[in-house]
Amino acid sequence: MHLQIQTLSLNDNSRSLPAGSIVPNSQQVCDSVLLIWREEPASEDYDLEELLKVVMERHQEWKLSVESLRNYLQSHSLYATDERNLQIYSDKVRMPEVQESQVKLPRNIRMGISSGDKQRGLFAANDLKAGDMIFEDSPLVVVPPMDKLVLMQSGKACPLCGSSVNHSQHTIIINGLDCSECGAVWCSKNCKKDDLTHTTLRHTRSRCKQINLSGWKKYESFCKQHVFVAAYSLGIIHACMVLDRHGKDGICPKFQLLAEVSQRIRKKASDSTNLGGTLDASSGAFTSDDPEPVWIKAFSLFKEAFPEFDDLDLEIYLNYIGKFNINQVAGQIYPAYSFINHDCEPNVRYEIDDKLSLKLYARKPIEKGEELLTTYVNPLHGIKLRRRELRVNWGFLCRCDRCNRELTKRREKLMSPTPSAHHSPANSFSDKTRRKSSMRNARPDLRELLKNGQEFDLEIPDTQESHHRKTSVRFDNNVSVAVEE
Ligand SMILES: [Zn+2]
Ligand SMILES: [Zn+2]
Ligand SMILES: [Zn+2]
Repeated sequence: MHLQIQTLSLNDNSRSLPAGSIVPNSQQVCDSVLLIWREEPASEDYDLEELLKVVMERHQEWKLSVESLRNYLQSHSLYATDERNLQIYSDKVRMPEVQESQVKLPRNIRMGISSGDKQRGLFAANDLKAGDMIFEDSPLVVVPPMDKLVLMQSGKACPLCGSSVNHSQHTIIINGLDCSECGAVWCSKNCKKDDLTHTTLRHTRSRCKQINLSGWKKYESFCKQHVFVAAYSLGIIHACMVLDRHGKDGICPKFQLLAEVSQRIRKKASDSTNLGGTLDASSGAFTSDDPEPVWIKAFSLFKEAFPEFDDLDLEIYLNYIGKFNINQVAGQIYPAYSFINHDCEPNVRYEIDDKLSLKLYARKPIEKGEELLTTYVNPLHGIKLRRRELRVNWGFLCRCDRCNRELTKRREKLMSPTPSAHHSPANSFSDKTRRKSSMRNARPDLRELLKNGQEFDLEIPDTQESHHRKTSVRFDNNVSVAVEE
C-alpha cells in the first residue's frame, strides 16, 4: 500500500466569503480577541484601532467597527481602563472554618490566617531550606480520567488511575489483577484494593440502594458527551462518599472543608466560551453561550444516579461543581495542598508522580512563620494573562509583589515618551518584521521569567491530560495525514 502525505485544513476557511458580509456576535469577537492575545502577548497593549486591524486580518468576512469592538470587549470585562470596573468574586468564595484538629497536617506546617485578605493559609512551623520536601498529599479520592473510560472498560487502562496496562496474561493471573465480573484489569494490587467504586458503578449485580446503576451510566455518558469533567468527577467523589466506611475521618468532612463558590458566579465572570478563553474548559458547558440546559440536565441525571441524596437542588449542585473546579489540581483534589494561597512568585512547587501522589517542595528558603505560597497559573504567562486567569477562575485580582512590580514597569513603559514599540504607528502592521520586534518588547520580562518560571515549563506540562492546568495553546490550522494513493 502506497501512502502519500496530504495536508488538510482544520479550520473552516471562511475567506471565500465576501469581505464584510457577516456581523459577528459578541462572543465570536471576544473569543477571537482572546486567541490573538494568547498567541501574541504584545497585542494586549494595542489600542482599539490596532486591535481591530489584527482581528480583521483574521476575519475579512466580518463587519466590525471600533465602537462595537469596544462594547463587546467591555461587556466581557476585557476592556477596562479602570481596574475597579473589573468583575471579581473573591468575596463570594466561602471558606469553611477549619479547626486544626480536623486536618492532619505534617508537623512542619500549621494553619493560619493570611495577612492581606484574611483568608486561611498554610504556614511554615520551622525553617525550611530550598529543595526540602514539605509534605506528600494523596488525592481525596482518585478520580479516574474520564477520557479513558473506554480503555478502562476493555482492560487496556487501569480503571482507577488510568495508566495503561500491558501486563502479560501470566502477570495478571499471578497477581489477581483482573476482575472476575468484567473485563477490567488494574495496573497494581494497590489500585485494585483502593478502587472503592468499581463493583457499585460497573457491575449490574451490585446492590447499593443509594446508587442507581443505570442512572449512573446515563450520567457518566452525558458528562463524557459534554466534556463536563467537573460533573463526572463530582459523581465519582459522591459515590466514594456513599461507600466510604471511615465516616468522620473520611471523604465527606474533608470535602466540606474546601473553599466553595457557585459555578454560576464563575460563569458570570468568564470572558469567553472556548479557544482563547480563560475559564476552565473542563466545565463542558462553556462551549456554548448558555450552559444552563447542560447544567439542568446533568443535575437531573445526578439525582437519578443518587436517588437518596434528598436535599440537593440545582444551586447546591452548582456550588459543588464550582468547588471542584477551584480546588482541583490535575483533575484531583489534594486536601492539604488545597489550603495553600496563590502568589505569582511562589515559594513552593509541587510534583505529582504516577501514583498520583503530590509532593510539595520549598522553591527557596522559607522562614518559620512564613506563609507557603504556590501558583495557580502558569508563571511563564505575562502579567495580563496571569491576572485574567486568576480573576476569571478564582475571582481575585492578583496584587502580589511580582504583579505590582510588573504593573509599575508596564505603566512606565506605556507613559515613556520614546517611540516604544507598542506605540508604533498603526501602519507598522503591514510590516511584519516591526510587528515581530514589537512583540518581543512586550513579552514577559526575561529576568522575571528566569526568576519565577524556569522550572515550571517542565513542571506544568500539557501531558497532564487535556482538562488540567492551562498552558498557552497554539492551534495549527493544518494537519498532515498519510492517505492511501
Ligand atoms: Zn492503577
Ligand atoms: Zn469489574
Ligand atoms: Zn500576581
